[in-house]
Amino acid sequence: RGDGYNEALLHKTILVGDSGVGKTSLLVQFDQGKFIPGSFSATVGIGFTIWDTAGQERFRSVTHAYYRDAQALLLLYDITSKMSFDNIRAWLTEIHEYAQKDVVIMLLGNKADVSSERAVRTEEGASLAREYGVPFMETSAKTGMNVELAFLAIAKELKQRA
Ligand code: GDP
Ligand code: MG
Repeated sequence: RGDGYNEALLHKTILVGDSGVGKTSLLVQFDQGKFIPGSFSATVGIGFTIWDTAGQERFRSVTHAYYRDAQALLLLYDITSKMSFDNIRAWLTEIHEYAQKDVVIMLLGNKADVSSERAVRTEEGASLAREYGVPFMETSAKTGMNVELAFLAIAKELKQRA
């Protein structure tokens, strides 16, 4: 088990983003190294410090309590959904309102394997990330592309701040 995993377990890391962007799938890929097709809403219990929202994102009720203790935050959109990308600014506003000032944030453009349906260019993601001063990468919960790397990057950042 890699360093990123252990480090993430030592800190409260949460996954945020619109419903359907692949938060649960990304967590399962990271935890088990596999992709389970199909939508599921259950919160995946992997240790108790990586928190996955289970449907509340639809109602924008993921508020103070959820963000309060988070030390790191993976903010996801789906590269095949322009709306999920456009909503990132709203998520960031909410994060800045509720999360700790020094929370480690990383922007992830997920479903990078579905290039035929791409609706958000890589450069758009990178540009938004630069604007907010957060690291960015494209991931695929399906193929596993950059999943370990994303958690590792978060872990490194957390270590540096500790
Ligand atoms: P959540 O609502 O953000 O937790 O999203 P889910 O993990 O439930 O994923 C929503 C849907 O997108 C499911 O049908 C997943 O199988 C699919 N999905 C998630 N990540 C990927 C990915 O990286 N690539 C592809 N092709 N499908 C994905
Ligand atoms: Mg989910």
